[in-house]
Amino acid sequence: MGVMVNVLECYEFPLSKITTDLQRLYEDTEILQYFYCLRHDLDFGRKLPNTERAQKCANIASLSEIKLLRELDRFLSELPKFPMELTIDELGELKIIPGFNSVFEAAYYALARFVAVSPDAPTHDGGKTPLAICESCGKIFFKNGNRQKYCDDPECKKERNRRKARTAYRKRVNDASQ
Ligand SMILES: [Zn+2]
Repeated sequence: MGVMVNVLECYEFPLSKITTDLQRLYEDTEILQYFYCLRHDLDFGRKLPNTERAQKCANIASLSEIKLLRELDRFLSELPKFPMELTIDELGELKIIPGFNSVFEAAYYALARFVAVSPDAPTHDGGKTPLAICESCGKIFFKNGNRQKYCDDPECKKERNRRKARTAYRKRVNDASQ
């Protein structure tokens, strides 16, 4: 029993932290989309979440443009930041890519990409969904190309090559037996 309590105590903090982060992500997504709709004369089409933070933004539609921008600026300054890092791609070129440490940073980056079109943003040929889940380690990573299924971790690259070799071997065996 004592062990169970200790185990539960250990997990209490991370679990409640994740719930808080999720709640916050949901609020931020809704508020940001509300701002986005107002700025682009689009119909938001639903109510803001019934939370204190979201309801503070409920009347921004009646603000003058300059006040609305000020509110938006204040809201954006409170959003979590996402790290970027310098890396070398397959061709040996230096490039800037997101260096996420958590699924939430990835989510905020995806959210930012959704509302912002910046010519300075790192371009990837990953299309509309630049994020993928590695088929080897299960981590979220940033795709360098459309068809990338494994992250850049050397172990996962080795795993990818092993699986490729196995598939190629099976194909040879199948071809030979036909
Ligand atoms: Zn991986």
